[in-house]
Amino acid sequence: MSVISCSSFMETDPWGVADQPRFINAVTEVQTSLSPRPLLDELKRAELELGRQRRSRWGPREIDLDILLYNQTIIDTPELTIPHGQLTNRRFVLVQLVELDDRLIDPRCGKSLCRILRELDRT
Ligand code: ATP
Ligand code: CA
Ligand code: CA
Repeated sequence: MSVISCSSFMETDPWGVADQPRFINAVTEVQTSLSPRPLLDELKRAELELGRQRRSRWGPREIDLDILLYNQTIIDTPELTIPHGQLTNRRFVLVQLVELDDRLIDPRCGKSLCRILRELDRT
């Protein structure tokens, strides 16, 4: 797996559980020969290697590696949702994805992420 590009880092307020420190978020584009499911296993392995402890969902964590998009692939299984289930609800994720590539499209709705971001800012 090789990193093609990386967004700037953004500090954000916690999401889901408010009473915890702020998070630092970044988005990277990677090139990989792994298909989505093995890629998820690899990311979970990397999280453990980087010291992630088992805690409640949305609580504080050492590292969190999510798959946001995988080309134009759509997956809906209990273990893996692609595009990421909260992609279009989290402004900071959209901002960082657009920073990497402003032509990215959400394969579920066919809209550009730029447009989804503009619509989110209007509501
Ligand atoms: P959120 O999904 O709201 O960002 P989280 O990243 O804090 O929450 P975790 O506890 O890290 O949630 O992961 C819970 C489970 O979500 C993982 O074990 C994984 O199987 C599943 N999952 C589903 N879709 C994805 C995805 N696109 N990327 C990473 N994990 C995913
Ligand atoms: Ca996450
Ligand atoms: Ca995660």
